[in-house]
Amino acid sequence: MGTVVDTAKKEANGSSLSEKKITVVFVLGGPGSGKGTQCEHIVQHFGYTHLSAGDLLRAEIKSGSENGAMIQNMIKDGKIVPSEVTIKLLQRAMQESSNDKFLIDGFPRNEENRSAFESVTGIEPEFVLFFDCPEEEMERRLLSRNQGREDDNIDTIRKRFKVYMESSLPVIEYYNSKGKVRKIDAGKPVEEVFEAVKAVFSKDA
Ligand code: UDP
Ligand code: MG
Repeated sequence: MGTVVDTAKKEANGSSLSEKKITVVFVLGGPGSGKGTQCEHIVQHFGYTHLSAGDLLRAEIKSGSENGAMIQNMIKDGKIVPSEVTIKLLQRAMQESSNDKFLIDGFPRNEENRSAFESVTGIEPEFVLFFDCPEEEMERRLLSRNQGREDDNIDTIRKRFKVYMESSLPVIEYYNSKGKVRKIDAGKPVEEVFEAVKAVFSKDA
């Protein structure tokens, strides 16, 4: 209350976010593991607001922002966009929302994303929902979903899998060591997966 550190944090956060008591659940898992699909169901049943980091970045490209070309190139190459860009978009979306419960889907993707988010926003996730899915199944889904995404081609998919294994799994390991991971077997049909998801939210949230 009123310390120099609090004031600095408040300024960095933008006042409205730091004054709200916010609940965040990170939704993680490989490309094509069903994060977006399951988040839509969670929103309907549990009153969260869904923030997909990937969708926010794609909207930023479309808006013609000065970062657009850089973001587009990184996504095409399956690389992780610099933390400050993604965190700003997430912060803005949380500030603009009247809700105080958020599903953050597809973020944090590496250790640096994770630590930067925690230090900039002061927010720690309530828990981490982790969709565990075999790579063959994820590949099959990505190649058949036809959402017109530039990164759903076999070359980029292979790069995304590599980045996921090397950079994103360690983030899940980190939260697992803190007892925060709720692991879901995500290789099954949507309805079956959602039954498992429902059990987690009925208990933890
Ligand atoms: N991305 C990123 N940071 C994020 C989220 C997404 O850099 O926090 C980029 C990254 O290039 C990723 C792409 O956006 O490969 C698509 O992410 P999304 O979560 O939409 O798709 P997924 O790979 O989970 O299917
Ligand atoms: Mg997605």
